[in-house]
Amino acid sequence: MTDTKITLPESDIPTHFYNIAPDLPTPMPPPLHPGTKEPIGPEALAPIFPMGLILQEVSQERWIEIPDEVRNIYRLYRPSPVFRARALEEFLDTPAKIYYKSEHVSPVGSHKLNTALMQAWMNKQEGVKRLATETGAGQWGSALACACRLMGLECMVYMVRVSYDSKPYRRIMMKTYGAEIIASPSTTTRAGRTILAKDPQSPGSLGIAISEAIEDAAGRDDTKYALGSVLNHVLLHQTIIGQEAKKQMELAGDYPDIVIGCHGGGSNFAGLAFPFLRDKLKGERPALRAIAAEPASCPSLTKGAREYDFGDTAGTTPLMMMHTLGHDFIPPPVHAGGLRYHGSAPLVSHLLAAGAIEAEAYQQREVFKSAVDFARCEGTIPAPESAHAIHSAIRHALAARASGEKKIILFNLSGHGIFDMAAYEAYLDGKMGA
Ligand SMILES: *Cc1c(COP(=O)(O)O)cnc(C)c1O
Repeated sequence: MTDTKITLPESDIPTHFYNIAPDLPTPMPPPLHPGTKEPIGPEALAPIFPMGLILQEVSQERWIEIPDEVRNIYRLYRPSPVFRARALEEFLDTPAKIYYKSEHVSPVGSHKLNTALMQAWMNKQEGVKRLATETGAGQWGSALACACRLMGLECMVYMVRVSYDSKPYRRIMMKTYGAEIIASPSTTTRAGRTILAKDPQSPGSLGIAISEAIEDAAGRDDTKYALGSVLNHVLLHQTIIGQEAKKQMELAGDYPDIVIGCHGGGSNFAGLAFPFLRDKLKGERPALRAIAAEPASCPSLTKGAREYDFGDTAGTTPLMMMHTLGHDFIPPPVHAGGLRYHGSAPLVSHLLAAGAIEAEAYQQREVFKSAVDFARCEGTIPAPESAHAIHSAIRHALAARASGEKKIILFNLSGHGIFDMAAYEAYLDGKMGA
């Protein structure tokens, strides 16, 4: 029997991030200035991001070196294992082999620490003392709070109101790392006050919280802004996931037919899929399918138009060409808070338009059924976000049963769900909406 847990030594932590930009079939449409609608240069982002990250954002270099200090901290949890989901395969009675990359093993329980550490490091190099950010479900906030602490920076988190109220443990986690947290919309920024004037009971949204964090960063010399998804450099940092997974699949003697990630802004999907997609774009693996699984209640990829839109609600970010539901779209408060974003990463949107990847959308209740099935087979309780990838993997494994094909399926377990017990309780008690 081959191994159930496929591990790599620390020496196999990637030395470089993989930048997909030079391998794209067609060039990306440039970001535009929010006022003039003209293409912007890197300098336009300088008030809120450090130059090192801006250069990564626009880089055309295929391989970008990971600093030693960041690689050394990655040793705390990387390389993360790939598991063969044998019990799940048996439960589904499928000839498919199901593998999952386990990003839930990071200290904060998700893939987001991968980019948080790199972003905090880059800011520190450029003398920044404090980072401001938004968080939805709290995963990005806790990742940045942890990374700032490990790198010696201060951290300010604008947390979407619904999650602030319903997820006290994520909030306490951020406080444990020493971060400052405020519910968004807040009265401390102009963006927050504008929303509250219109709707004092506003549940908040990621788009609103982003506007607040950007305003905070733009208004202080010692502070920059950090984003946990969507941007090219964030997706870039996550490619260590797929690079490790490729080595691990090689050790297992399999190459995936299908790679799957859940999709909020696109970073964990891209992180797993892009290193495999490189093989497809080079023509070596033309049949590889890469699938982004999103919630039906926030279907930016499957229902959104691909057009220029703002990244935030107030309309302060550059215009990016992406699949979007509109920057003023406020998604219903689904339990997978990390997937409540109106848009999709420009890189992921571009690859979808090029036909290189696919997207699927699933309802909350069917996703939780798959989450519970997975937990009962494999032991790990998945984050509600990750459960969208699990649900997709299960559907493809069942399709393989129907067709009798021995498909190889690899999905990203982007995080664990130990802080999401309220959502599991709602599902188990039959009180969850569709
Ligand atoms: C934030 C988050 C997501 C969604 O963000 P992406 O950028 O699409 O990866 C998915 N899973 C988990 C566990 C998260 O914390």
